[in-house]
Amino acid sequence: MNTTSTFETLDQLYSQNRLENVPFWITQDYLYTTLDRFANGLFDQEIAGESTERRPIRLLTLGSGPTPVLLWTQMHGDEPTATRALLDILSIMSNQKSSEIIEAIRNNLTLYILPMLNPDGAERFTRRTALGIDMNRDALALRTPEARILHNVIDTYDIPWAYSLHDQERRYTVGGTKRPAGISLLAAASDWTLSIDEVRRDTMRLASCIADYSRHIIPEQIGRYDDAHEPRAFGDAMVARGVRSVLLEAGYVPRDRHKEIIRKTNAIAILGSLYDLALDNLPSDDIYHAIPVNRRFFAEYVFKDISVQINGVPAGKQDLALHHEYDPQKQSKEIDFKLYLTELGDCELFTPSYTFEGTNLEVRFIVDQSSKSGLPDTDEPAFCEIVERASGTQILIQEGMPSGMPEDVFRDFLL
Ligand SMILES: [Zn+2]
Repeated sequence: MNTTSTFETLDQLYSQNRLENVPFWITQDYLYTTLDRFANGLFDQEIAGESTERRPIRLLTLGSGPTPVLLWTQMHGDEPTATRALLDILSIMSNQKSSEIIEAIRNNLTLYILPMLNPDGAERFTRRTALGIDMNRDALALRTPEARILHNVIDTYDIPWAYSLHDQERRYTVGGTKRPAGISLLAAASDWTLSIDEVRRDTMRLASCIADYSRHIIPEQIGRYDDAHEPRAFGDAMVARGVRSVLLEAGYVPRDRHKEIIRKTNAIAILGSLYDLALDNLPSDDIYHAIPVNRRFFAEYVFKDISVQINGVPAGKQDLALHHEYDPQKQSKEIDFKLYLTELGDCELFTPSYTFEGTNLEVRFIVDQSSKSGLPDTDEPAFCEIVERASGTQILIQEGMPSGMPEDVFRDFLL
């Protein structure tokens, strides 16, 4: 199988039809208004049920083919990339109905789409539902109304293929490489022995196809999740029930703050793999097995050989790695970023967006009672200031570029 020519066509369709100005913090209001623009003649919409806070959850039905395929996005409210990519996909399908690719998908598949399955979480930009539950640990107990909706759709339409669409933290690298994980895939296991039956092998073939399209945009930046069994997750629970359910996680490429590159990769890889599924043309599972398992060695900033002070006490020269966590601004609906401490000590293994050789730099940690250890805690907010020692200038790390940073200590991260 060769995805190159299909990719080239999709790449062109994407540039021509991609939606502009889609907010990163996408809410249900925006989503539904935009869906209504594309629905006419392309898909039907119905209310599949209500969220905990009574928001209507829509189910779209697109195409008239014999093979049902389910796609759902944002079961975690703070994972918007696939919802944004889905709008691009619907824009392409709506504008290019006579394209051979779109025709094949519409004639051979019936797509069932649950966009934004956790609208209450999306409203707050939180992972969990309004009940405080992680929906992807509710596939068996079905305590949340949203998980019951998903479960009902799978049952009602006897779904054989599914895409579970997520975002992942900005902390993963591909295997033992220095490359960040732009896309991560998982064909979940249905039992504790991680056996591979026909259903799971088919899922791996779908994942292989998604990887094959993705690598045209982000070569060598595709990772695989560890397949440790989690029976309460939808992927694992569905494979056990015969649903070929692939987990597709939108990762991060350095400095692509709002994940526009990964959004495009998602849209093209989903459309390309649907096309190959429609033509019964999925590759073997070999590509999937060759994808390295993710490791957690990405950080936004790495400082090398920086002088460290903790509450005014010198702590020698160390490396320092900091990563980003979301900081949603309720008023403006903008997403800012907070700095968290990834590692203090040897950061040689880390791949960052920005590296600083810190011979002239000092980091001053201010540790208060909120620290359990009395020291800077990893995976906690980094309360520190970074200063250039000679001038005493404080380096501010804000949206995008650090400011006040002397040019000569700044080295670009090159893909
Ligand atoms: Zn998720």
